[in-house]
Amino acid sequence: MAQDAPSSPFKTVEIADEDAMVRLAEDIAAILKPGDVIALSGDLGAGKSTFSRALLRSFAGDPELEVPSPTFTLVQTYDLGRLTISHFDLYRLEEPEELEELGLDELAETGAALIEWPERAWDGLPRDHLVMRISHGGEGDQRTVEFLLSPEAALRWQTRLLRTFRIRG
Ligand code: ADP
Repeated sequence: MAQDAPSSPFKTVEIADEDAMVRLAEDIAAILKPGDVIALSGDLGAGKSTFSRALLRSFAGDPELEVPSPTFTLVQTYDLGRLTISHFDLYRLEEPEELEELGLDELAETGAALIEWPERAWDGLPRDHLVMRISHGGEGDQRTVEFLLSPEAALRWQTRLLRTFRIRG
C-alpha cells in the first residue's frame, strides 16, 4: 500500500454480484476525467479486470469493445474520443522504474489510467491516485470495494465520489 494511503476507507461498497460490479464501473466511468488514475488492488479473481472492462465499455458506449488483458504488453491504450484511457496491468513489471518507461505520467497528464496490480509500483503512481481495493471473502459472487483516498486524492476525487454515492444511495 502506498505510504501515504489512509488505513480507513473513505467509502466501502458491498457488491452482490458481477452485475453490481458492472454498475459500479458505469458510475465511475460517468465521472472520469483527464488526469484520473485509479489503482485497482485485489487478489487474483477479485474482479479488477471485470471492473476495468466494464468501465472501458461504458465509457466507449460500446458493450462489445474488445478489452484484452494487458498482462504481457503491460499497457493497452484506448482512444475514446473525449478521453484516452490507458489500462495497465503491472503484474509482470520487473522494476518500479519501468513504469516511467511505459509513460504513465504522460498518459495520465491528458488521459485517464486504470492500473491493475499497483502493488508493483506504488511509488511510481501520481500522488492523487484513487485506490479501489476489491476483496472477496469466499467462493461466492459477493465483493467488497473500499475507496481509499490520500489527502491529494481527496482533493481530486472527493466531491465527485460523494455525489456518485449520494445518487447510488
Ligand atoms: P482479477 O482481474 O481481479 O484477477 P477478474 O475480473 O479477471 O479478476 O475475474 C473475476 C471473476 O469473478 C470473473 O470470472 C467474474 O465473472 C467473477 N465474478 C463473480 N462475481 C463477481 C463480482 N461481484 N465482481 C467481479 N467479478 C465477479
